[in-house]
Amino acid sequence: AEAANQAKSDFLANMSHEIRTPMNAILGFTDILRRGYDKSTAERSKYLDTIHSSGKHLLQLINDVLDLSKVEAGRVEVERLPTAAHTIVNEVTSVLRVRAEEKGIDLTLEVNGEIPAEIETDPTRLRQIVTNLIGNAIKFTEHGGVRVVLSLQDHDGAPQYAIRIIDSGIGIDAEALESVFEPFVQADASVTRRFGGTGLGLAISRRFARLLGGDIVAHSTVGEGTVFVVTLDAGPLAGTAMLNAAAAIADAAVSAPEQVVAWRFPAPTRVLVVDDGEENRELVQLVLQNVGIDVAVAENGQIAVDTVRAQAFDLILLDMQMPVLDGYGATRQLRADRVEIPIIALTADAMKGFEEKCLAAGCTGYLTKPVDIDQLLETLGERLGGTLEAAVAASAPEDAPANEIEAALTAGDPTRTIHSRLENAGPAIQATVCKFVDGLDDRFAAARSALEAGDMDAIASFAHWIKGAGGTVGFDEFTKPAARLEALAKGNAVEYLESALAALETIGAALVRPGASLAPAERAETATAVPTAVSAPAPEPDEDATPIVSSLLRDNPRMRPIVDQFHARLDERMAELRAALAAQDCAAFGEIAVWLKGAAATVGYEIFVESAGHLETCAKTSDCENARAWTEAIGRLVARIDRDPEIPGKAVPATAANRA
Ligand code: ATP
Ligand code: MG
Repeated sequence: AEAANQAKSDFLANMSHEIRTPMNAILGFTDILRRGYDKSTAERSKYLDTIHSSGKHLLQLINDVLDLSKVEAGRVEVERLPTAAHTIVNEVTSVLRVRAEEKGIDLTLEVNGEIPAEIETDPTRLRQIVTNLIGNAIKFTEHGGVRVVLSLQDHDGAPQYAIRIIDSGIGIDAEALESVFEPFVQADASVTRRFGGTGLGLAISRRFARLLGGDIVAHSTVGEGTVFVVTLDAGPLAGTAMLNAAAAIADAAVSAPEQVVAWRFPAPTRVLVVDDGEENRELVQLVLQNVGIDVAVAENGQIAVDTVRAQAFDLILLDMQMPVLDGYGATRQLRADRVEIPIIALTADAMKGFEEKCLAAGCTGYLTKPVDIDQLLETLGERLGGTLEAAVAASAPEDAPANEIEAALTAGDPTRTIHSRLENAGPAIQATVCKFVDGLDDRFAAARSALEAGDMDAIASFAHWIKGAGGTVGFDEFTKPAARLEALAKGNAVEYLESALAALETIGAALVRPGASLAPAERAETATAVPTAVSAPAPEPDEDATPIVSSLLRDNPRMRPIVDQFHARLDERMAELRAALAAQDCAAFGEIAVWLKGAAATVGYEIFVESAGHLETCAKTSDCENARAWTEAIGRLVARIDRDPEIPGKAVPATAANRA
């Protein structure tokens, strides 16, 4: 009892140290940002990265404590799914290799004999186990390296999957060897001060391994190194392919591509975000708007219920603990109102029972806070018919034949222009695209100075940012070269960085800001130019009555409801337009022109863009004469729309690619 008591005191001391360190970074850097002490975009994004990774570290700590308390209480359930274990181990080693390289030690993955292509086990737990063990091995090794060896062995006639983590580190003395598996125990207090950690990793890992029909054991010699052996029940192997070392390594490498993904949602998609925390509302709103979703917000369940009664939504994201009316009550009320759209609970209550409670109240799904952006988008994508555009990142530097790629990338035509895929997607998204384009010069300047300073981390994080953000705002040209720059920076391939960054700059220089069909060089001069007057439209031959069919509908018959909705709106807005003209209200018809230009193109009536653009200019120059003529021209186009075209059903899903 005394020993246990002592262990708990040590744990508390450790724990408070472990919590304080990232907390200090979070509070310190947010304070700097709040006071505006940061001097450049680069500095600011470095602080933000530190805050982010400290937050992640804290979350990891909390998850560990939760995991342990759940296993202690016998509440952990493990899954048994067909799992390519070698792929998971390979992914973990690739991630941790960065850390090993920083310490100047090796980290290798080997396969001994033949191993099965798949075993039945819990992929998440397996990843947790190897992450902790390989992490420990790197943490406690200063010279030499860490080998990870996979094999299949026999255990009383049953096949067992074995993962050996062999390090040449400080070792653990015989007395401590068994107790390191106890929760809160670390071999040596001085070691802890040097290396950090809470002493929970091994306790959790061993419990998981035992739940998966195996165990973890350790052998060690102080000063020479340690071997941790994880064994897992492999499950039935009949019919499973066996891989030799070469095949397994190749297989692990190809099945673990780094995915660069961007979600796209059909327009219009409307989501109601309900949360009493303002920051949470803002964060979720930003994320959703970035992928083209229309967002409304409500700060409690009652407001949510009232809003849904007044407006139509495609989905509700609902916090559970809120004042006035909580999420459970709101869900019950909405369901009683016969609201059938998906309601996804978004809550900080991460315990298992809460999920069931949410579903019982009528929620469709359940997500935990802090918001995991990828997971959130994936859930919405599944529910709302979003499409995922995936691109495989450029391959690792060693096998990238750098020169011809570079040549192809940099030899672009200097007068070339690049338009965002979302250029016509409506004013809000246009604004996001513009913001991206406008901020780019600063970002590139920061990347340049990072390159000069040899700051690989900063370059990698810049590349990572532009890879994601560029795709999000519709400049997919960045995706591949950015992934390449990221891989090069992470691989410390200094000699290629210059040209890889230059390739991105070439693309950046060619971007066209939506709304101005001008290349960046011309942008500056014309930014404040007064719109030039327009002339009247050329009189159209009256007999031109070719029906106009929406190109969106032609490619995606499933978009019909969206196009129908546009037709209805178009009739209303044409009436408003005529009224505004009669009243000579330039502001009003200018606004309608802008709407028409964006919305028509979005639903596949590109033919309106030109005349709507002229009408917009008329509004700016208060030229009612020509505005009337252009309105009539638009009216003639409207009359030619075929609102119910015959479109042969196609089995093509509505992806953003074929929409474009
Ligand atoms: P965390 O909870 O962050 O994982 P930790 O790494 O200290 O913290 P464990 O993973 O449980 O906790 O490890 C417990 C102790 O076992 C470590 O503090 C260390 O003293 C010892 N240990 C674990 N792995 C090794 C290793 N490969 N070489 C030497 N000592 C080790
Ligand atoms: Mg550990």
